[in-house]
Amino acid sequence: MSDGCIMVVGAHAADAEVMGGAQVLTQVAQGWRGVIVHCTLGEKGHPSLDPDAYGRQKRAEAEEAARVLGAACICLPYLDGELPVDTEVQWRIADLIRTHRPDIVLTHWKGSFHRDHRNTYANVMEALYLAGLTAFQRTNPAYHPRALYFCENWEDMEDYQPDVYLDVSPVFDRYLQAIRCYELVRGGISRFPYDRYYEALTIVRGAVAGYDRAVTMMIPARSRVQRRQTLTP
Ligand SMILES: [Zn+2]
Repeated sequence: MSDGCIMVVGAHAADAEVMGGAQVLTQVAQGWRGVIVHCTLGEKGHPSLDPDAYGRQKRAEAEEAARVLGAACICLPYLDGELPVDTEVQWRIADLIRTHRPDIVLTHWKGSFHRDHRNTYANVMEALYLAGLTAFQRTNPAYHPRALYFCENWEDMEDYQPDVYLDVSPVFDRYLQAIRCYELVRGGISRFPYDRYYEALTIVRGAVAGYDRAVTMMIPARSRVQRRQTLTP
């Protein structure tokens, strides 16, 4: 067992779980802590509920999903469709990084057609910088996570590259249970079939990697640098 920590930062409640829930389960099974951060509840767009009512539903669904994942759930106070890119958001995320000290941070890839997803990416990239600067005195000391990955999300596929294939066969049933805490995933809210898409995606990605089920992540450009003194395998 270890005392590691994995943090997933998503734009709308449900994003973090669909794109990072299986990774959280994998690490929690090894004794790590998991922290799920939702920048907004994603409270707009329900066909019959107003944003207040749907926001309450999404918050309850987020807490239930986090319970299934064995992770902490943190909802930031921003509105669906209105997430700014500014230092207030960035310091909120940076302070969460300093508080929870995640070894690994997962978030959205920037190639998204959804503005909140792109803005989450931008805020997290700046937050990682702020979290690591000792010159900034905050409640908790400066901290650098060891690794950052961008997750696979159906809305963020422009120029996305699946670099890392993680075997999620052992945690797949619980992953499905976690994402199905959301009515959005079970169906009836969006025309997009979340449930079928993410279930099928684990099979497609698994087939390429030789696993029963897999999820993929993208490596940041600077992390692609490989230092070698010989090419001998
Ligand atoms: Zn979203």
